[in-house]
Amino acid sequence: MNERLYVAGEFYGIQKYVLGITAAGGGQAKRLRARSFVVQALEQIVVEELRALGSSELIMAGGGQFVLALENSQAAQPRLLEFRRELQERLFKELGGELSFNLGWSDSIEQARHARELERRRPWAEYMTGPNGWAHERMRLGNIYPPCDICGKRRETVTWSSDGPPESVCERCNSDRSIGTQIPHVQGVELAEHDSDIQLLGRGLRFRHASSGAAVGDGGRALHRYVPVQDDRKTLLTFEEIAAKAEGDELLGILKADVDSFGRLIAKHTKEGTLDALERVSKDLDGFFSITLQRAISENAEWKYIYTVFSGGDDLLLVGPWSVMLDFAATVESMFSSGPGRQYGLSLSAAVSFMPPRIPIRHGVHRAETDLKQAKGGSKNHCATLGGVWDWEDFRRILGKGRQLVKWWTCGVKKALLRRLYHIAASAEPGAQLWAWELGRNFPPRNSPHDELRLFREWGDRVLANWEAGTMNETRAALLYALTATRMIRSKDERRGR
Ligand SMILES: [Zn+2]
Repeated sequence: MNERLYVAGEFYGIQKYVLGITAAGGGQAKRLRARSFVVQALEQIVVEELRALGSSELIMAGGGQFVLALENSQAAQPRLLEFRRELQERLFKELGGELSFNLGWSDSIEQARHARELERRRPWAEYMTGPNGWAHERMRLGNIYPPCDICGKRRETVTWSSDGPPESVCERCNSDRSIGTQIPHVQGVELAEHDSDIQLLGRGLRFRHASSGAAVGDGGRALHRYVPVQDDRKTLLTFEEIAAKAEGDELLGILKADVDSFGRLIAKHTKEGTLDALERVSKDLDGFFSITLQRAISENAEWKYIYTVFSGGDDLLLVGPWSVMLDFAATVESMFSSGPGRQYGLSLSAAVSFMPPRIPIRHGVHRAETDLKQAKGGSKNHCATLGGVWDWEDFRRILGKGRQLVKWWTCGVKKALLRRLYHIAASAEPGAQLWAWELGRNFPPRNSPHDELRLFREWGDRVLANWEAGTMNETRAALLYALTATRMIRSKDERRGR
């Protein structure tokens, strides 16, 4: 018998679960936050319970996934089978099948991960089958009428009316709500037999508060995920309020990013048996997403409106004012490439999609996901946004050009001209003649006394001179940036009235 048994586990469907709330608008930010927290706490409970099965070593954890090594014994496999069955049962009862848990084990990491993947194809198998085949009584959801206003999956039992229009919700969503009110103060969480703050999977959890002074990391794991708050430092900003902080159009930017080819790196290390190296790289990556970036967000005023949906393991999902998210995407990439990227020879791909704040953000996330696939489709190490897929250097140049155009607009360049230029650049066959016509008729003269306007004219001339050089896509993206960023200043009252 092999000395070590590798156990690979994952919560599957996290994004769908976290974003799977029916409410848009006002309460959305708060509810997402609670669910995101629940997922992190679940990962912690499961890892701790598994480690209690015997002497163990945690090889990688983060982002709802983990791999650990258990001491092998006759009893180990039956115990794991029982653990999996029992955990699926608790999870199903608690979350009604919205989030599944897969666990596989074997005497190599690769095989354990493969076994976990096979589990994915038969979700809830342990729980739904009994000694006599399918346990039909477990497949029925029972009477859920009248359904919960938030999840629609369980029966409503409680009505709230304290913050907004009354809502009737189920017990689980009610508990999420109480989690939501204790955040954003929570820094971490630990399992607690007594004096627990909340119950999850039948286990008591105690919050660690920022003020308690206890360093996160001794026992509990850091669960702090930055979210923007009002000046009272208690109330979460809504997504509408976050979008209103954007330059120009009040749109949200959804930033999704992940490490390129991380799966291949795991496979390489497991094949070569370099587990220490794997442990180090996955810990450093998780540290980058869950600690380094979170610190950068919470300690810099320019990022204070960024809302963390999740950030850990090897990826992140953030929401913020669209203009801020474009800048932050570039910042994440430079921090990554000068940090773990350089150390381990890894690159990062990202997508930023824009959306209005009044619809459920899962729509914007879906777009960002599709775009991210595009960014990874070719050579990876790219960013998909503003209507194209760019390598990082091009992306930074576009942002610079876009900001420059905004500056020229503040110096008197008409928005109508920017719009016409955008249409020329965006047409299937952009016409040099049309651009030349605009240059002759509507651009400031080459000898304009105003420095900025002269620079604008020089830019227009340069675009025409480089017409054949394939820079039109960048010009189009920069103009799109400028059009989105230039909005007539409206009074606050007008803003409220909309
Ligand atoms: Zn509910």
